[in-house]
Amino acid sequence: MKLRYYADADVRGWHDHALRLLERIHDDHAITVEIHRVEERYGPITDFPGDVRQTTPEDVYERDLKNNRALIDTIDQRPSEAYKRSGKLTIAGNVAVVDDAGTVRWASTLPGYADGYGPDAGPHAAMDFLEDIAQSPSNRICIACLHLLDGDERFCPNCGHELL
Ligand SMILES: [Zn+2]
Repeated sequence: MKLRYYADADVRGWHDHALRLLERIHDDHAITVEIHRVEERYGPITDFPGDVRQTTPEDVYERDLKNNRALIDTIDQRPSEAYKRSGKLTIAGNVAVVDDAGTVRWASTLPGYADGYGPDAGPHAAMDFLEDIAQSPSNRICIACLHLLDGDERFCPNCGHELL
């Protein structure tokens, strides 16, 4: 499992905080973290404990999101609706869970925090996800099989992995 951040979030505070949370997730939970920089808005990213690469929103959309069955199942909408609103790609600021084969299995569809997006936004917001994972990955996901969790399970309902 890898966590990928499509940088840079358009709000500077979100971007800086995402970098700190990813570092914490790497250090505290030994999860591989990486950055695919699709829109460079702020300065160079240094001292990051994972790969940082430059790419474009178009490449990310074609490679990671479009026609991705696993992703459509977990986000419950079409990638064209989630990331291509009125024809324009909106990917920067989102985070993705990537499996060992390199497939994106889940991705946020709202950069930033759920606050202000209405009652159903919680599970879709990038910053809320990173904060939950930094606290404990099993708040949101089974690190053994990448099944999404509600946070109150003791065992993964998909693979039976014991959640700490
Ligand atoms: Zn599992």
